[in-house]
Order: sequence, then C-alpha cells, then structure tokens
Amino acid sequence: MSELVKSAFREYYFKHAARAIEAPDAIESREFGYAQLGVPGMVRHLSFRSVGELVATLVREVPSDVYCSNALYRFPTLAMQEKQWLGADLIFDIDGKDLDLPCVPSHSYPVCAACKRVSSPIGDDDDDEKSKEYSCPACGGRKAEQLISIPCARCVEGSKKEARRLVEFLTGDLGIDKGRVNVYFSGNNGFHFHIKDDSYRPLDSQARSDLVGYLAGVGLMAESIGVRRSPQGEFVKFPKSGLALGWRKKVADRLKIDQSSAVRLTHILKEKGGYAGFKAELDRMTREMGVRIDPQVTTDVHRVFRMPGTLNSKSGLAKVKCDLDRLDSFDPFTEACLLGSAKTKVKVKTHVKFRLKGEPFNISKETAELPAFAAVYLVCKGLAEAV
Ligand SMILES: [Zn+2]
Ligand SMILES: [Zn+2]
Repeated sequence: MSELVKSAFREYYFKHAARAIEAPDAIESREFGYAQLGVPGMVRHLSFRSVGELVATLVREVPSDVYCSNALYRFPTLAMQEKQWLGADLIFDIDGKDLDLPCVPSHSYPVCAACKRVSSPIGDDDDDEKSKEYSCPACGGRKAEQLISIPCARCVEGSKKEARRLVEFLTGDLGIDKGRVNVYFSGNNGFHFHIKDDSYRPLDSQARSDLVGYLAGVGLMAESIGVRRSPQGEFVKFPKSGLALGWRKKVADRLKIDQSSAVRLTHILKEKGGYAGFKAELDRMTREMGVRIDPQVTTDVHRVFRMPGTLNSKSGLAKVKCDLDRLDSFDPFTEACLLGSAKTKVKVKTHVKFRLKGEPFNISKETAELPAFAAVYLVCKGLAEAV
C-alpha cells in the first residue's frame, strides 16, 4: 500500500495514539498482532507490559491494522498450544455486509475480472440506457471479480438496528449490566461489542456457540411455545414454566397469545398446516427477530480482534467507542474519520460519491485534490491510487 496511506496513518498514531488507544485490562496477559501496509499476513504472538509500550510500537511500525486477543493467557507470546488459556472476553461482530441491505448494489463498484478496471455501480451509468447487466467499459468483459462497497447512511442505520437489538438481548434476556456492554464502530461497516463481565470469561467455544444460537433465534422448539405432537396428532399444551421470559415471550407477543390462549394457538396451528408447518413458521419468525452476528467471531476463543482506537486499513477510519445513549445520533463518517486534511492528489479510478466529516464528495475527474482523510479513504477502498 502506498506511502500516502502510511504517512497519514503515521501522523494519526503520532498525534492521537496515546489518547485514543484504549488499553485492555490485564494487558500483560493479552496476545497482540498487527499487519503492515503492503505486507501479506500478520505478526502475532506479541505481548506488551503497558499501553505506553504498545503505543511506542504503533508509532514506530505504523501498522495497517492492529489486533488484541479477547483471551487472556499465562504466556501470550508462546505458540498457541503453549500459551495456557485463562479465559476470554465475550465479543460480537455485526457486519453491514452480512445484512443483505437493499441499498448495497447502488454503491457497489465492480472490478473487471479481465482488466481490473473499476466502474460505476451497475445500473448507475450516466448513459440513458440503464443496464442491469455488468459490462466492463474498458474491455467489454462480462465478469466482475469483486464489488467495492462504499457504505452509505442506510447501511449504518441497518447495522445500528442490529446493534440495538443485540443490546436488548444482552441487557434484557441475559441480564448484563448496560455499563458492561461496550460498543464500537468497527472502522469500516459495522459494530463490535466487547462485554466487560468476567463471569463470561470461562465459557468455552461450545457454550459461546449455544449463546450465538440463542441470539440468532435458531432452534427454538415448538414445544416450548406449547405446540406438541403425539401419535394421535398435534395438540396445544402450554409449558408449566410459562411464556413470560426470553424467546417464549417474544414469540407469544408476536402471536398475540398467553397461557390462556389455547384456543387461539390451536387455531394458528391448524392455519399453519399442523406441527411441521407451525415449526417452519416459528423458525422463520425467530430468525427474523434474532440478531445477525458473525458466529465465528464469538465462538473463536483464540481470536485477535481489532483494537479500539486503531485504524482500519479497509477505510482509514478508526475503531471508536460509541456511547450507547448516543447510538442513534452516532455518525461514523464523522466521528471515526480522524485523519488529517492536508491537500492530497490522487488518481480516481471511476466516478465516486461518498460523504466524510459531513462533507459530500462527488468526484468525476480522473485526478482530484482531496483532503487527506478522503484521499486515504478512496485509496484504502481501492477506488483511487496515489499520483
Ligand atoms: Zn475489463
Ligand atoms: Zn448502503
């Protein structure tokens, strides 16, 4: 990656790292890792005794991405089998790209598989003929090897909606104190949750996987709502433990039933075509009401996770804390955009539109002079290069 990005990142770490980097508790028991601009792979198994030592390394090395383990180890610098795992914080990842948001095609820039030319989002050509089919404007190739997405305000709204839902599950269903739920903008297109509650630290991967299943609304049994079956056919008998809590309550509210509604539930059961039909409807409903989180992030107890206060090389934006009470008004394109504004010349690969620090950019010229934060954003996205 270019010197342009590196010098902007260097300035950020030099000016802001000491204040922006949030030290994890028990820092000496964490494993750190970082990637370097233009170098594939990651340097892992690092350890720091203090946040000052870490900051000094960031200023010196200027990494592209910085990670810290959610796990605590007796020997964080040794090979994985020898580290001696002591527990891991509970973490969650909500990624906008997993949410199937309808706005995404309108800001996805295709890259030609044959000649690598980047072009405008499909169906967004300036031509009158609005084509839904991809065709490379340079070579006529019909295959795009990837789509570069510039998340929009609706994407942020979509991720926030999932984040709010996750907060509700964590504080409501699981009873976690709100003050222990730390939410961060991921630095690109989503939110990261760090739960500061030691009682979750011992959970193994299977227990975390069960928790993900609960949050995602997977595998709720029809019986727990009161729909049962016997060789004589299906029937309604509400569970003794009631419908007042957790998923049972969510589903009961949705179906407008309580424990006195056997007649109504029997009617719904018939309407859905019996036990199997009801179960299919229940699965659909709970998936829709559940939270869409990346299961791998939560179940991996040896993961290194992006560090709060560091920059994300997919965008040049920072992973920043997001006050739960201010989640509604939080604007990552302003609050996480922390690079400088020195005029920077870049060669832009296609007509692009985006918004940063409250400023709309609509660039159709091939060479543009932009504030550094916007230039770096486009270079990180692969939509521009240094001149
Ligand atoms: Zn092409
Ligand atoms: Zn969008």
